[in-house]
Amino acid sequence: MITKTEQNEIQDYLRDASNTMGYCEAVVYPENTDDVVAILKQANYEKTKVTVCGNRTGLSGGSVPNGGIVLSTEKMNRILEINEEEKFAIVEPGVLLSDFLNLLKPKKLYYPPDPTELNCFLGGTVATNASGSKTFKYGPTRDFVMGIEIVLPTGDLLVLERGQIFAQKYDMSITTNDKKRIELKIPSIKSLPTKNTAGYFCRESMDAIDLFIGSEGTLGILTKLKLQLLPAPQMVLSAVIFFNSEDSGLNFIEHSRNESYNSRKNKSHIAIDALALEYFDKFALNFLRDDFPNIPEEANSAVWFEQEVDEDSSNQITDLWISLIEKHNGDLGNSWIAMNEKDKLKFVEFRHRISTKVNEFISSRNLRKLGTDFAVPDEELKKFYFQLKYEVVNAGLDYVIYGHFGNSHIHLNMLPKNPEEFEKAKILYSNMCLSAIKSGGTFAAEHGVGKNKKALLYELYDEKVMIEMWRIKQTLDPYLILCSGNIFKTES
Ligand SMILES: Cc1cc2nc3c(=O)[nH]c(=O)nc-3n(C[C@H](O)[C@H](O)[C@H](O)COP(=O)(O)OP(=O)(O)OC[C@H]3O[C@@H](n4cnc5c(N)ncnc54)[C@H](O)[C@@H]3O)c2cc1C
Repeated sequence: MITKTEQNEIQDYLRDASNTMGYCEAVVYPENTDDVVAILKQANYEKTKVTVCGNRTGLSGGSVPNGGIVLSTEKMNRILEINEEEKFAIVEPGVLLSDFLNLLKPKKLYYPPDPTELNCFLGGTVATNASGSKTFKYGPTRDFVMGIEIVLPTGDLLVLERGQIFAQKYDMSITTNDKKRIELKIPSIKSLPTKNTAGYFCRESMDAIDLFIGSEGTLGILTKLKLQLLPAPQMVLSAVIFFNSEDSGLNFIEHSRNESYNSRKNKSHIAIDALALEYFDKFALNFLRDDFPNIPEEANSAVWFEQEVDEDSSNQITDLWISLIEKHNGDLGNSWIAMNEKDKLKFVEFRHRISTKVNEFISSRNLRKLGTDFAVPDEELKKFYFQLKYEVVNAGLDYVIYGHFGNSHIHLNMLPKNPEEFEKAKILYSNMCLSAIKSGGTFAAEHGVGKNKKALLYELYDEKVMIEMWRIKQTLDPYLILCSGNIFKTES
């Protein structure tokens, strides 16, 4: 097993895509589960901190070390099985999401829960319960995880299959491969009407597997994943529609969202049922203009939507979308409708590029990313959107807004030009997150808490809940060696 200790060789492992910086003594590269077990047993014995990382595309500092060693999963990158008949895959955590999707394509299989960044590892997506544009129809990564193999911080191996072990109300009992029984008390927390990746997933009578999904590396290292696959859709209708006002773009989102919910409820086949509903404000469009010069000058907002169709339904569903676009004064003449696979990929890149450009802007100024990740109840979206804009304009800060608006999930990225503006933006950022919580939503809809958003978690949940979550961590990780500093304020 390779271990690197030279600081110039391990620099890349000291930061993630949020530009959060850390430090460590060494990076180890296990090649299989036995290696991970051995590393954690020794670390637990010696009380050495271990931070597990995927491809470090995370945006909350979760894979950034604060001392000790980094365990990189990049050598554990085998696809162990793709079962085309039963539609599942068994993979190691270091498989690159883009490689996985490319392998599925010719097999006519489909794995919907991809975050915008395809350069991440599957282990990272499960550890953060990542979501993306298709979450609007298919839900987050959690909904596609059928089984996991996980090495607990003590080095004990645990295998969990969905549907096999449930908590008795709030009492959960899990048994490791070595027959060690571990009892955990699950806190009772309010379930939000939005996507949420803040803290541990806790529900009455929950499936034990769900505690580990989205636990941001704090409860164990995922070493194998069993993922559910779907048959690939026959065709996907994809378009980027430009609007001359923000109001029109937002109304179009609300209308198509409601239509989609109705179609799903009524199981209608020839109807609007969006796969994705992604929004861009005027400043996001301006930010992208150099790379996409055919963005219309007068556009003040845009919506990228997708819908799965088949040959029979395609024309009629396209007509339904066109009348919806016309109803909301979409600029049909200048909008982009995908005519082929290449166009479709261009739209995916259009959405991806706004996120990467913001990250590049922040890194070039050597600042930390201040991008909101909040989701609010659907009925609050529009009011909340305009309130945010008012606040950030009032503070005199540059910004761009985009996000998974089908899920009422807003990425407002402030673009401070210097450290003074950064300090101002930091205060505004916290206040906005508190408002999202007050509105009944969350500050962490998909990027998790990591090391950068811990204080906010204590605003979302009361002290009793946080103490109970902390007890779960302590029970599984008695010396607090694994991903120390993630999620809990109690750790530095
Ligand atoms: C341009 C851009 C756009 C993005 N858009 C989205 C988006 O739309 N939706 C979204 O959800 N995210 C998005 N992200 C964030 C990021 O891509 C996801 O969080 C992704 O799931 C992280 O995967 P990773 O392999 O890079 O993990 P890392 O960043 O390396 O790690 C993330 C967390 O998972 C833990 N971890 C990693 N591997 C394991 C393992 N094997 N076992 C246990 N814990 C582990 C780490 O300790 C850390 O806490 C975006 C990032 C970028 C740069």
